[in-house]
Amino acid sequence: MRVAVFSAKPYDRRFLTEADQEAGHELVFLEPRLSPDTASLAGGCDAVCAFVNDDLSAPVLERLAAIGVRLVALRSAGYNHVDLTAARKLGLAVTRVPGYSPYAVAEHCAGLVLALNRRIHRAYNRVREHNFALNGLLGFDLHGRTVGVIGTGKIGVRFIRIMAGFGCRVLAYDPYPGDEAIAAGARYVPLETLLAESDIVTLHCPLTPETYHLIDERRIAQMRDGVMLINTSRGALIDTAAVLRALKTGRIGHLGLDVYEEEADLFFEDLSDEMPGDDLFSRLVTFPNVLITGHQAFFTEDALRNIAASTVESLTAYARDGSTAGIAPDAL
Ligand code: NAD
Repeated sequence: MRVAVFSAKPYDRRFLTEADQEAGHELVFLEPRLSPDTASLAGGCDAVCAFVNDDLSAPVLERLAAIGVRLVALRSAGYNHVDLTAARKLGLAVTRVPGYSPYAVAEHCAGLVLALNRRIHRAYNRVREHNFALNGLLGFDLHGRTVGVIGTGKIGVRFIRIMAGFGCRVLAYDPYPGDEAIAAGARYVPLETLLAESDIVTLHCPLTPETYHLIDERRIAQMRDGVMLINTSRGALIDTAAVLRALKTGRIGHLGLDVYEEEADLFFEDLSDEMPGDDLFSRLVTFPNVLITGHQAFFTEDALRNIAASTVESLTAYARDGSTAGIAPDAL
């Protein structure tokens, strides 16, 4: 297979090249993000390999199909950015990499909780200026606190296990409850109960039409005053403008994000000289009780190795017999 790898960073090149040693596909690494303007770079390729920031809307898929591309191999678990209806109509196969390392994301999520609670990001900035005063850095013991986990799939279950290890009481909500979450130490409750009783609320469900703005003005009103809200899943699960208002009033006491509603045009690039300074994102980061990372929860050596291995497996399986079984999004 000749494969155009879009949004290719040096680490993609390293791990995909390593994973492809035996299979020997022809990987063409392209730095630009896939978009209507760059789709033609895939000319002469059988497949494109894309990431979460690539544009896989109907017009881009149409262009890809027109130049002979047959497979879109996502090197991500989430596939909310792909127009699956258009892909199916065009006869384009789509694969993804489910569950490449739920530990990476669950551990990063725990990192956000710990850093926000103990103000580690603020303390670090102070200490660098030789300011060792503790005012404003008061945290709480996680032990005995209630954590609400929305979505108990692969990542949610690992996160439950970590929080149960801290001695937290863990409540869970998922329309499809599973035994694993209970074994990990959680108790399933209705979403309203989870929101009303949790000191920390964290999102681990996919972005779908049903979960778009799951956390909005109404849900925020159901939460505890001063709640810590964490989102490492997809930005549009929360209504960012509503969250900003709740930060101003103090209803939300801490906010930890690894994802952001408008991240496609922002994340993964160094924009330090270009950001306007008066947009929603710039306002969010002025709050000392907000900690944002740029979609890096997946970014561990182990996860990158697994992503590359699964991606190469998808390419090989498709090349062998057109198979996408077991790896295609369920929705296809
Ligand atoms: P998963 O498919 O194993 O689990 C998702 C769970 O969400 C399932 O149990 C499902 O039943 C549940 N769910 C569906 N609709 C729901 C709803 N309305 N309310 C509550 N729960 C609902 O997925 P996963 O591997 O655990 O990943 C979770 C999310 O994490 C992914 O969708 C992806 O968007 C995100 N993710 C982020 C990163 C990152 O780097 N930040 C990396 C990988 C995955």
